[in-house]
Amino acid sequence: MAIRIAYGRINHETNAFSPVDTSFEAFTRAHFLEGDALAAACAPDGYEVAGYAKNAELSGLVAALDERRGEVEGVPLLSAWAIPSGPLAEEAFETVTARLLERLRAAGKVDGVFLSLHGAMTTRHDPHPEARLLEAVRRELGPDVPLAVSFDLHAQLCAKKLAPVTFACAYRTNPHRDHARTGRRAGRILIDTALGKVRPVYRWRTLPMVLGGGTTVDLLPTMRPIFRRMSRMEREPRVLDASLCMVHLWNDDPEIGWSAHVITDGDAALADRLADELADSAWGVREVMPPAFPGALEALEEARAARLARRLGVVCLSDASDVVAAGATGENTNLLRALLEHGQGMVSYAPILDTSVAVELAGRAPGSAVDVEVGGKIDPLTNPPLRVRGRLLATQVREPFGHVAVLDLGHVKLVVTEHTPIVMKPAFYRDAGLDPWKADILVVKSFFHFRIYFAAINRRTIYVRTLGLTDVDRALGLTFDGPVHPKDKVDDWRPADRRRRGVA
Ligand SMILES: [Zn+2]
Repeated sequence: MAIRIAYGRINHETNAFSPVDTSFEAFTRAHFLEGDALAAACAPDGYEVAGYAKNAELSGLVAALDERRGEVEGVPLLSAWAIPSGPLAEEAFETVTARLLERLRAAGKVDGVFLSLHGAMTTRHDPHPEARLLEAVRRELGPDVPLAVSFDLHAQLCAKKLAPVTFACAYRTNPHRDHARTGRRAGRILIDTALGKVRPVYRWRTLPMVLGGGTTVDLLPTMRPIFRRMSRMEREPRVLDASLCMVHLWNDDPEIGWSAHVITDGDAALADRLADELADSAWGVREVMPPAFPGALEALEEARAARLARRLGVVCLSDASDVVAAGATGENTNLLRALLEHGQGMVSYAPILDTSVAVELAGRAPGSAVDVEVGGKIDPLTNPPLRVRGRLLATQVREPFGHVAVLDLGHVKLVVTEHTPIVMKPAFYRDAGLDPWKADILVVKSFFHFRIYFAAINRRTIYVRTLGLTDVDRALGLTFDGPVHPKDKVDDWRPADRRRRGVA
């Protein structure tokens, strides 16, 4: 008889600085599937997270199950994902967790569970709700059923989150391109574990380090040797997996830091040795800081000078202080103001979150004159509201953005959204009736992901510092459990690691 592997996802990347609570509706609006609908979405011809990822972790897990058809069968539980934003309302966390546990109970006896988490989800009062979720799942399963978890590469690992799990695997690419591969890696180990073919033992290390590794892009020289070494580690037959998490900077967790996690087949000493080695390698690149980003005016001059890039495609201005993909609100007006005042002669498309303006303009006829104040409805101190005048090009209702109003402000075309304007793909603008190829500048609110989807049109990326929720120096103002690099001078990562892991 086939063994049964249950699978699900509760995934949120939380920005502690955002005043916006993430509600249960934020999940149902973005991505929420249960049971058979989830199984269909993860099948080879399905679309796992509509609009974002055809194949992600759960499709990878299902592919691993398909490789062993006859021996294993999948039990779809629930998959919930919300656009990164502020801490979850406690009630939202409890609701989504209860739904998953209900499904797990209804599934009856299972031989293994796979959960896709982010690893950087927090609620208003708890920096580790994922630990609570995993503890609850462990209680349902009892001590012996394997529980595997996949994490984002920006996960914040801690002892509480890892205690209930059998092992964890994280993405190994940044920008992330291996969601499905990570699910399949974890799935294969989980199946072998459930069938009694391997006995996974993990060891992990946590570093008092929040920044380093340069841009942290896996393909660039600072990080590439480390990721290559991890792949080589796995050629040793007793090594099942190696992961390195580079932390989500804006989690309000005193124990924040990079971490290493190595899984072997029953060899704890080897896992210890390799986890130490990986931690040392990461510590070795701590002094390579991310580049400093120019301010808006400097960035505009750089874009103006990039004539060839603009002729052959576009310049992408990544608003590094208002990265919606890292939980910012998307209502930053600082870059928009600069584009309006100093961007003449270049056609720019920009997004902005403004719920009341998007709803107010919904009934108006295209072509009508518009004179509104946008931005700063949530956090006016960071994002002073900005008066804009122009013409309404179109209004739409488009999930997950809700009401959308497209404004012609002269050389700037502004897409005002009711809900968070996550600009992951050029389709954000194309679907608003704006041809990306006709622009000189496209504003995006993402650090890494957009680079994959905009690759065909993007000839130059300029990161802009505009003062907001995803500024690196904001994160350094959080409270830590001790000295943390680069805020403080730290010579050795081991004391903090031992303290955090509770090792004498
Ligand atoms: Zn990430």
